[in-house]
Amino acid sequence: MATSTSSLLVLLAAAATVLAVFPATPVSAALPDIKPLLSNPWSAFKNFSGCHLGDERKGLAKLKDYLGHFGYLPPQPFNDTFDADMERAIKTYQENFGLEVTGQLDPATLAKMMAPRCGVADVINGTSTMAKSTVRGRNLYSYFPGQPSWPRSKKSLKYAITATSETTIDRATLSAVFARAFARWSEATTLNFTETARGSDADITIGFHGGDHGDGEAFDGPLGTLAHAFSPTDGRFHLDAAEAWVAGGDVSTASSDAAVDLESVAVHEIGHLLGLGHSAVEGAIMYPTITSRTRKVDLASDDVVGIQSLYGSNPDFKGVTPAPATSSREMDSSDVPGALSRLSTRVAGIVLAAWLALVLESW
Ligand SMILES: [Zn+2]
Ligand SMILES: [Zn+2]
Repeated sequence: MATSTSSLLVLLAAAATVLAVFPATPVSAALPDIKPLLSNPWSAFKNFSGCHLGDERKGLAKLKDYLGHFGYLPPQPFNDTFDADMERAIKTYQENFGLEVTGQLDPATLAKMMAPRCGVADVINGTSTMAKSTVRGRNLYSYFPGQPSWPRSKKSLKYAITATSETTIDRATLSAVFARAFARWSEATTLNFTETARGSDADITIGFHGGDHGDGEAFDGPLGTLAHAFSPTDGRFHLDAAEAWVAGGDVSTASSDAAVDLESVAVHEIGHLLGLGHSAVEGAIMYPTITSRTRKVDLASDDVVGIQSLYGSNPDFKGVTPAPATSSREMDSSDVPGALSRLSTRVAGIVLAAWLALVLESW
C-alpha cells in the first residue's frame, strides 16, 4: 500500500509538473465592453481621454481620488498633475482588469473606470488583491490580507435584513432575493445560511443606506459604487439605496438604463462577507464591476475553487454551469472556464493513468 501511495504521489507530482510546464493558454487583453453611462458620478472621466504622464488637466485630482478609493494610490490630497505615481497606479489597474498596460488614460481604461462597481478596494494596504496578468488563465480568486474567514467550526451563519427604510422593495421580495443569493454559496460549500428577524442574533446584517452612513464609505447616488461588504467576521453588507435596484423581474428589460440587478450584487457581496476579495476573471462573481441591466448570479469555477479552499466543498455540489458559447473574440478575453475544464480533463487523464498503474502494480 505504501508503494502504491508513493506511486500515486509520484504521478501526481508529475501531473503538477506537466501543468507547470504547459500553463493554460495566455489570455489577451480584454476589449472595452462597457459603454460609458450618462449620469454616473464618474462620467466626467471621459474628458481625460488620452491623458498621460506629464499632463496637467483640471479635475484630474478627481480621478486620483478614484484610484485612491480603490487602493491604487495612498490616500492624500491630490493635485491635477499626471505624475509617475498616477502612471504606476493606472498600470496596476490595467493589469487587474485585463486591459492593455499603457499607463495612459486610453478609452478602454476610462470605460472600465466609469462602469458601476463594488466599493471594496482592489488593492488593500498597497497589495493588489487581484492577480497579476502574468498568471492569467489560472485561478485568480483572492482573499483579504491575512485570509480572514468564519471559524471552521461555524457552519451555520445567520443573516438579518436590518435597514430597509430607504428602499421601496417589499420585505418578502428582499427575503427571497437574499435567500437565493446565499444559496449560491451554500450549494458549493459546507456552509448554510438562515434568515433571522433580529439583528442582534445575526452574524451578517444587510441594509440599504444613502450617502454618508457612518462607516467612512459614503455612497454616491445612482451607479458608481453600488454596494460594499466587510471581510469576516465583521458581517456588515450595505447597499446604496439610491440605485435603481431590480429585485424581482427581468433586469435586462428594465425601463431605466441604470437598473441594477439586486441578486447579482448580493451574490458578489456575500463573497466578501465570506472572505473572498476581487478576482481578475471577468466571468467570476468576484470581478469588481457589473454592467447595468445585466444579471450575473452563477458562481464561476474561479469563485468555487476560492470559496471551497476556505470552507471545504459540498459533496452534493453539481459543479458550475458551463459558460454559454461565446464568440472567439470574447473567448480570447475570458477563456478561463475553458482553460479550467482543459486542466480538469488533463488531471482526469493523469488520475486514470495513476489508477491503471496501481491496478497493474497490484497484479
Ligand atoms: Zn467587491
Ligand atoms: Zn457602508
